Amino acid sequence: MRGKELRERLWRRYREIREPWMRWVLRVQDEALSALRDFLRVEGFVEILAPIVGPVTDPGIRGAKQFSIDYYGHRFKVMSSMILYKQMAVSSLDKVFALSPNLRLEPLEAAYTGRHLAEFRQLDLEVAEASYLDLMELGERLLIYVLRRIRRECGEELENLGRELRIPSKPFRRLTHGEAVELLRGEGFDLKPGEEIPWEAEEHISAMFQEPLWIMDYPITARGFYDREDPERPGILRDFDLLYPEGYGEAISGGEREYQYERVLARMKARGDNPEEYGWYLEMLREGVKPSAGFGIGVERLTRYLCGLKYIWDAVPFPKVPGIPSP
Ligand code: AMP
Ligand code: MG
Repeated sequence: MRGKELRERLWRRYREIREPWMRWVLRVQDEALSALRDFLRVEGFVEILAPIVGPVTDPGIRGAKQFSIDYYGHRFKVMSSMILYKQMAVSSLDKVFALSPNLRLEPLEAAYTGRHLAEFRQLDLEVAEASYLDLMELGERLLIYVLRRIRRECGEELENLGRELRIPSKPFRRLTHGEAVELLRGEGFDLKPGEEIPWEAEEHISAMFQEPLWIMDYPITARGFYDREDPERPGILRDFDLLYPEGYGEAISGGEREYQYERVLARMKARGDNPEEYGWYLEMLREGVKPSAGFGIGVERLTRYLCGLKYIWDAVPFPKVPGIPSP
């Protein structure tokens, strides 16, 4: 479904939301949200409230653009992610998470990847003094916990939706970015070593596996200034993505953070970010924050995977699809 037809459909979401399939999806989503919170609370996380607007936001959002608004005469951004704020909060509370609403003007062609919305939520978490390997281990336990809960509590909904959920075993398979690029080249994709993995290739590699797959150690040229460069392996970041299996694509992105003022400044300059725009953030780093690592897991993408939906716009009650006006 595309263009005009999709627009018509989304415009009348007030009809669809009453249909049985939509109720099943929303019940699964509700259970998933409770499961995420329950898991993190037991792990000692504190839930914090996410900001919606601020002077700067996450610049590392691939091809997407940021939304700007007029805030009493100041140019403010709508959060593309709250990553900069997580670094602020984690220095106080050590383990934090938020269900953070994000807006991104994704390119129009993102509308039909099945996994991009212009407005979405991520469960964004951060842990002080942790390594990216710690966070990968946490991510595995978190996903397995959610899958088990959904299988247990939403059996009827899953059956109605025709979805069979496998519980993966730990540890999940791990490929470095370099290994993933090699594998995809062998599958006929023309990929360059220093770049992000393009959407079609991401979907392809995700479809090659029946269990979730980590891609780690991205090249420095592929990511934002906040993913930490490995001091022992210059040019390689201590970061990761988790891909769902079966072609559902990226679930999680995360890593260790650059947290030292001088390092962040150098990374900003290397990427062409203007440090002057990052006023409060750079001042905070100069005064000092705790080293940390964290990740974000998209709530709608998780719901899509749990329910086995073809398109992410059916994994959210009031979807905003790139380029399509809807309620
Ligand atoms: P990112 O910082 O771009 O890696 O985003 C963090 C997580 O949010 C991703 O791993 C996805 O699960 C989710 N996400 C990112 N962009 C979108 C989008 N346009 N629509 C829906 N979910 C998204
Ligand atoms: Mg990502």
